[in-house]
Amino acid sequence: MNKVKKQTQKTKKRSYFTVGPSQVYPTVDKHLRTAIREQIPSLSHRGKEFQAMYQRTEELLKELLGIPDDYAVFFLGSSIEAMERIIQNTVEKTSFHFIDGAFSQKAAAIAEELQKTVIRHEAPRDSSFDLKKVTIPKNAELIFITENDTSTGLIFLHEYVYELKKQYPEKLIAVDLVSSAPYSPLDFSQVDLAFFSGQKGFGIPAGLSVLIVSPAALKKAEALKAKGINIGTYHNFPTLQKNREKWMTPETPNVLAIYLLQNVIEDMLKQGIEKIRKETDNKAKILYRFFEENKHFSPFIKDQKFRSPTTLVIEVVGGSKEVRERLAKVGIIVGSGYGENKDLHIRVANFPTHTMAQIKTLMKLLSS
Ligand SMILES: *Cc1c(COP(=O)(O)O)cnc(C)c1O
Repeated sequence: MNKVKKQTQKTKKRSYFTVGPSQVYPTVDKHLRTAIREQIPSLSHRGKEFQAMYQRTEELLKELLGIPDDYAVFFLGSSIEAMERIIQNTVEKTSFHFIDGAFSQKAAAIAEELQKTVIRHEAPRDSSFDLKKVTIPKNAELIFITENDTSTGLIFLHEYVYELKKQYPEKLIAVDLVSSAPYSPLDFSQVDLAFFSGQKGFGIPAGLSVLIVSPAALKKAEALKAKGINIGTYHNFPTLQKNREKWMTPETPNVLAIYLLQNVIEDMLKQGIEKIRKETDNKAKILYRFFEENKHFSPFIKDQKFRSPTTLVIEVVGGSKEVRERLAKVGIIVGSGYGENKDLHIRVANFPTHTMAQIKTLMKLLSS
């Protein structure tokens, strides 16, 4: 025991470029201390302070991301959970999935496990979708999109989302924003469901997912319920909404994570979301240029237009293990490749918490 403790104390501060959990937002340290001092973890989730916290967090999030007033914000345990809730609550029989990597596959697999009919449309291996080649059948109730598939670093363009909404106004559209929020300037009025987890771009500890739901999606859940279809229990949309009307949650939620999210959003609003987005673009540009010009690396997604600015997936000549280990020795943690690409790729997060100075240090170490 003693030995372990000593080792932890000696650990030098690391820079986490991992795609999730990632490095926490710089102000989280201060907010955590305040939370303990103010005994936030002991707050009742049925009390006035929690109610105010829920309401304020929803209002701040709507301001930060430009979410319409009449959309609901629900708190869930994880984004994998959000995938399951979306399928349960909005699909009676058939869902349509754009597949651009392992996370979009996950949502489709969940729909199958819930015994829905699943239609998959797969992107070519390292480029994006050609909407002209896509027809979505009439019976598909939901279009499921992964905006930034963290396993491949492939993005789904917003112009495609809006085109789909125009072509299929009667279908619900769900967007996984897990590794692109808050960077993503998505027009939420064009989609019905969107979700993200705290441990990626917002830089708070894992264990909280935020699900944004349009009035149309809520109505669909109520209709399915009225038809006698199983839409789940404590976290079905009508139950979440009934509780939300009192700024409560059906279960004891992750109050500490909600507190941290509220405070981090406040900090981001002070920075200004436009500034955060511009900095993300600048950092992405510099990083991609570096990986293109260095002969040991090349971006996995070849077409620039479809490359993720927030989670870069990079092929490493001769394998990525040695590079990761060498960086780890000096306290820089980058992600491995996903699944079968574990030792072929590195993945580098470019979230609001990552500074230009850290990125320059990373590039310097990678070029030596
Ligand atoms: C990480 C991730 C998820 C899963 O999030 P959890 O909080 O681990 O459930 C889903 N989708 C994408 C794109 C992700 O990057």
